[in-house]
Amino acid sequence: MHKNFKGIEKTVFGRGSFGQLGEIIAPHRSENNGYMVFIVDNYFKGKELEGRLPVQAEDTVYFIDVDPHEPTTEQIDTLRDEIMATKGLPSGIIGIGGGAIMDIAKCVSLMVTNEGSSTLYQGLNLIKKPGIYHVGVPTISGTGAEVSMTAVLTGPEKKLGLKCEWTVFNQVVLDPELIATVPRDWWFYVGMDTYIHCIESENGQFNNAYSHAYAEQSMKLCRDIYLGETAGQTAENDDKLMVASLMGGLSLTYSEVGICHAISYGLSKILGMRHCYSNCIAFNHLQDYYPEGVAEFKQMVAQHNITLPQGLSKDWTDEQINAMAHVSYNLDHMWNHAVGYDWREKVTIEDIEAIFRRL
Ligand code: NAD
Ligand code: ZN
Repeated sequence: MHKNFKGIEKTVFGRGSFGQLGEIIAPHRSENNGYMVFIVDNYFKGKELEGRLPVQAEDTVYFIDVDPHEPTTEQIDTLRDEIMATKGLPSGIIGIGGGAIMDIAKCVSLMVTNEGSSTLYQGLNLIKKPGIYHVGVPTISGTGAEVSMTAVLTGPEKKLGLKCEWTVFNQVVLDPELIATVPRDWWFYVGMDTYIHCIESENGQFNNAYSHAYAEQSMKLCRDIYLGETAGQTAENDDKLMVASLMGGLSLTYSEVGICHAISYGLSKILGMRHCYSNCIAFNHLQDYYPEGVAEFKQMVAQHNITLPQGLSKDWTDEQINAMAHVSYNLDHMWNHAVGYDWREKVTIEDIEAIFRRL
């Protein structure tokens, strides 16, 4: 069976396009109880962007600090309950921020129409009813969260996305001006998330002409942004990074991620390491699996004087390494793609532990 995916309904791209947000959401203002909920990264509180939010008197704005932890099921349930108790069903949800805010906005849009805790819906196609109109305005580019059909939540039992067609944004606003202030090291890690999405999407059995076309173009943009004379955090490259992130996300949607993400999930789940950073830590040591990609990645690391820590595993216990290897091993779809349907005959828990010991 071939995957049959739903994409973003509407996309606006360009410098200053954030200024069109008010006009874009206006036709939806009469839906449900006639007010919009803005969910904005706390970084923008008191900044110029706050004054540019197209907020009307009836609307509600939440500023959320995403740094203490990645989005949790408890956080989503509390926010949903507060929204519903205050003014009832909103006309729409507008998320403005990085991957964490994209995921919060997607989840809240689903949870205002689906009863009970978000823990009930972690997994594929468990959501029962369509959510409400929701808009994503990324202020960091790289994870592809703006285009994906999943919204990752950490719950008491599992770290797993609410994944279904209704998760996908109805509208995204891609304004490269919004990513200009991303700190340099984070700009590097998130961009590498895009680059790794492409390398992994390309190197595996689910790669196809459709995913390849997106990966090829996205990697070309990554090279402009991170390699050679045109490299650097410039306005022109920010335009390119926004598009690269979107295309990298589309590539993996129609193909799959691979070994780096399988290892990275282990690091995030057991050690709480952030997604893009843990990808960089893992990819740096995956030359046996992705020789050309890792060689080029190392050139980018060197060009931007990024220091990736080495020898981390000497501080990890055998139990931690074993637990991380099990998290990776259970990501069947990633190993299927990267190694083949018979991957269990070729890769053992011990082999995966050996990868963690290299880090
Ligand atoms: P983030 O949302 O975690 O934000 C990182 C930091 O950047 C925060 O301190 C934030 O306040 C700050 N920030 C945001 N915009 C800024 C700006 N313009 N200028 C300066 N600082 C800014 O970052 P991320 O890496 O984009 O997202 C990571 C999250 O995305 C994780 O929660 C992860 O689980 C999730 N994720 C989701 C998907 C998906 O498909 N849904 C895929 C990968 C990762
Ligand atoms: Zn990723």
